[in-house]
Amino acid sequence: MTRTDPSALEPNMAAPCGMNCALCLAFQRTKRHCPGCWGDDTDKPESCRSCIIRNCETIQKNESHFCYDCERMPCQRLKRLDKRYRTKYGMSMIANLNEIKDRGMEAFLAEQAERYTCPSCGSLRCVHRPCCLNCGEEWDHSQGQ
Ligand code: SF4
Ligand code: SF4
Ligand SMILES: [Zn+2]
Repeated sequence: MTRTDPSALEPNMAAPCGMNCALCLAFQRTKRHCPGCWGDDTDKPESCRSCIIRNCETIQKNESHFCYDCERMPCQRLKRLDKRYRTKYGMSMIANLNEIKDRGMEAFLAEQAERYTCPSCGSLRCVHRPCCLNCGEEWDHSQGQ
């Protein structure tokens, strides 16, 4: 059982770092399900509870609660995360942040829906897996950003 309904693509699933938590394996799985970065800490994996970006003081203070409002963006920690995701999963947090900032949340979510909807079954694909969790259709991570 997975949570891959495209209706999960909501503004509150966009994490401060630019991660789209609706595409995360921890969100999509039902066992040990994570509610997303803005959800209750008690339900998250330890790595996200103690995330140095989510807990960054600047994030807590700025109005949008996104890194794009920080004059140090991209800081070393964001660069490291971005590099890891670009390399492993074909997704760039920094590109996501710039898109939200420049084009707005609605346009970002529409683009994410287009990019990550499985062409076979219409479910949301998982950024961490090379195949749709719902129907198994394979996809190429490198087609991401
Ligand atoms: S594990 Fe982290 S990245 Fe994944 S949904 Fe939870 S908060 Fe978001
Ligand atoms: S870019 Fe700025 S707000 Fe984001 S983690 Fe780095 S220092 Fe904190
Ligand atoms: Zn599918």
